[in-house]
Amino acid sequence: MSKKYLYLFSEGNANMRELLGGKGANLAEMTNIGLPVPQGFTITTEACTQYYEDGRQINDAIMAEIMEYVAKMEELNGKKFGDLTNPLLVSVRSGARASMPGMMDTILNLGLNDEVVAAMIAGNPDPAFERFVYDSYRRFIQMFSDVVMEVGKKYFEQLIDKMKEDRGVKQDVELTAADLKELAEQFKAEYKAQIGSDFPSDPKTQLMEAIKAVFRSWDNPRANVYRRDNDIPYSWGTAVNVMPMVFGNLNENSGTGVAFTRDPATGEKKLMGEFLTNAQGEDVVAGVRTPMPISQMEEKFPEAFKQFVDVCGILENHYRDMQDMEFTVENGKLYMLQCRNGKRTAQAALKIACDLVDEGMRTEEEAVAMIDPRNLDTLLHPQFDQKALKAATPMGKGLGASPGAACGKIVFTADDAVAWAERGEKVVLVRLETSPEDITGMKSAQGILTVRGGMTSHAAVVARGMGECCVSGCGDIIMDEENKQFQLGGKTFKEGDFISIDGTTGNIYDGVIPTVDAQIAGEFGRIMAWADKYRKLKVRTNADTPTDAKKARELGAEGIGLCRTEHMFFDPERIAAFREMICSDTVEEREEALDKILPYQQADFKALYEALEGNPVTIRFLDPPLHEFVPTEEPEIEKLAAAKGKTVQEIKDIINGLHEFNPMMGHRGCRLAVTYPEIAAMQTKAVIRAAIEVQKEHPEWKVVPEIMIPLVGDVKELKYVKKTVVATADAEVAASGIDLKYEVGTMIEIPRACLTADEIAANADFFCFGTNDLTQMTFGFSRDDSGKFLNAYYDAKIFENDPFAKLDQEGVGKLMKMAIDLGKPVNPNLHIGICGEHGGDPSSVEFCHKIGLNYVSCSPFRVPVARLAAAQAAIADKK
Ligand code: ADP
Ligand code: MG
Ligand code: MG
Repeated sequence: MSKKYLYLFSEGNANMRELLGGKGANLAEMTNIGLPVPQGFTITTEACTQYYEDGRQINDAIMAEIMEYVAKMEELNGKKFGDLTNPLLVSVRSGARASMPGMMDTILNLGLNDEVVAAMIAGNPDPAFERFVYDSYRRFIQMFSDVVMEVGKKYFEQLIDKMKEDRGVKQDVELTAADLKELAEQFKAEYKAQIGSDFPSDPKTQLMEAIKAVFRSWDNPRANVYRRDNDIPYSWGTAVNVMPMVFGNLNENSGTGVAFTRDPATGEKKLMGEFLTNAQGEDVVAGVRTPMPISQMEEKFPEAFKQFVDVCGILENHYRDMQDMEFTVENGKLYMLQCRNGKRTAQAALKIACDLVDEGMRTEEEAVAMIDPRNLDTLLHPQFDQKALKAATPMGKGLGASPGAACGKIVFTADDAVAWAERGEKVVLVRLETSPEDITGMKSAQGILTVRGGMTSHAAVVARGMGECCVSGCGDIIMDEENKQFQLGGKTFKEGDFISIDGTTGNIYDGVIPTVDAQIAGEFGRIMAWADKYRKLKVRTNADTPTDAKKARELGAEGIGLCRTEHMFFDPERIAAFREMICSDTVEEREEALDKILPYQQADFKALYEALEGNPVTIRFLDPPLHEFVPTEEPEIEKLAAAKGKTVQEIKDIINGLHEFNPMMGHRGCRLAVTYPEIAAMQTKAVIRAAIEVQKEHPEWKVVPEIMIPLVGDVKELKYVKKTVVATADAEVAASGIDLKYEVGTMIEIPRACLTADEIAANADFFCFGTNDLTQMTFGFSRDDSGKFLNAYYDAKIFENDPFAKLDQEGVGKLMKMAIDLGKPVNPNLHIGICGEHGGDPSSVEFCHKIGLNYVSCSPFRVPVARLAAAQAAIADKK
């Protein structure tokens, strides 16, 4: 039998999300549990994939199946496309597997044309009904033109604005039936002017065009950016839902709303949402009119409200999670149009997960699995300093739409936000309202402030998704976008002025309010404790200073996985000695210079061991090429020449001699220790002496230094350097009179090391994957330059992600797996970790769990993310 590409809502269920998309699967599920859903059908994600495979065409078989389902839908609803007594009007809605709010397109009121409009009006003498019909018609032409034909909204908006001006009215709702009728005519004329042909009047033609447009929207630029940010593969495709319209814009006894069963900002268990009478859904989301809070719906629509509250209870119990719902009331009767597990702030996610456990709805493991690790970032971001905040007086207030603190310079356009951020400025994006085109600008900003729109406006939803601070709907702002300024609280704010906004309270402050770091406590602490209970991977941190190490330990780090020693050489007192070392002619001269550095390094390491209180510390020996350390300024060069008793020219010759065409693959890593073993000897002395001191002072700790040799590609390199390390360390330990164990291991960051990991493992106590270099060398492109062409790679669908941010599991991952499979049998005690940027990326952490690493190491602020991701990997594994 050929593949089935279409499903009635009554044929699907919630488990079919891959095929039906999230929206389709949940419409089916709501149908199954008997909730009032207009009955339509879903075209599967596989049909979308097929559309792309067929060269962006809907093939005959799928076309025929669509027509078959149109007939079924007509039958079910007792209405027909284009019929003059009982016309069927539908919405055509996108819906991918993972929710992508506002990213793809929806067309409402499809099926209208001049004849249908005329017949509808003829059948109902109420003048309000006539107004409704024309309102729906002009909306349809507008949406169809924008979404399907890509004419651009602005032409139509200009026509509406002009009409309002001519009629001397402010709001769309004040336009009369005659005005709207005229607008519909103007829209059709505009369509013809832009496209060159008449607006399509056949409903089935309209439908097919709309379906294709939804398929196409899967590949629009903002969807592509959203997918990259949210780890959604391009290959999934979107489903299309076609369903009969219900009309919230029918009359004053109708309306439309969006609601959450719990507060998506705080997690508090209470119905939250917004409602607009006499409106269609897009009006709420677009923030065109500021809606009323859901509680006021009770006064206007007591029956429908009561029914809606029941539905909320049914859905929460059914999905055992907070629900985000879209609904419409037509003539007092409730219809459900969408439900899904609601997006929420990190704060709310933690509270809801804990509450669901306390309410007996979820297990601890399920609660841990519910939290998106990427969201934790926001909790770790700074908050306003409470003292400074108390002292400050807000100049205005909007809705606290997405929590956090943001402080920056005011910009008025998304493009400016991007440009200013690129040159290192912190900005707050201030807009009348945001639209999906603003997404990159919103991302570049510290926070977003809008004049219009509620808690479910585009700005609010997107900001919460990104974990970015947002204050929305501050109607007191008098905006002057053209001149890039606004007035608030009697003051004029210009582009570049500082402003601070509080996404929790909605308060807006003039100027700069200092921020402080966040803490793990309360629900955050509870979830992290559960995560620690279930995870197998250890989590360490990359830290070079005691301050960073302490911060990381507060955030749950169990050791240091990577201490880079080179940063320690840049201190003014040390850099002179280090430069003298570089410009030495003999081993003795070099040793003399290194001796000056030794006490500093030793003190650094001692402080680290103290901060770690006996937990493991991996110290990597000098890694970057030496030319990074030499002076570039004339006076500095002269100083160095004087210190070395050389001429300025001689020093310059040495510096020039260090030039490399390809420094990333040059004289660095263990190659330095091969050329200058005395550097490794000095660093070994510093490590071992510091460890001995700390061990003596703290017999209760077990200090086991881990010395890590970078950039090994051949076991003989490791053996050669290790000889120096072991001889030096053993002499130090012997002289100390205590029994100190130490380990010598290596970074695995050159493909050849993976290929020969069995030989290397025989000579190493541990491996640590340096996936930054390993990625760079596996792909053969430098991470400092790849930014120039990666965008072209995304556009061409060659890459979906930056391989330096998200581990390339197929290639780089395969090398890692090979290294483990070769290394472990040779040396069963070998412990293995990862210390590249990937150590804090959730999907990469999951991969590390799967291939059996012992630990991941990441920057301090990523530690909680890694702990949670590791727990989720272990929990998923158990299932
Ligand atoms: P998004 O995924 O961007 O939220 P939707 O497909 O959910 O887009 O459509 C947006 C809004 O359009 C819905 O919230 C709803 O209010 C309205 N809508 C969609 N389909 C219908 C319909 N059949 N009848 C009435 N309103 C609809
Ligand atoms: Mg929706
Ligand atoms: Mg490296």
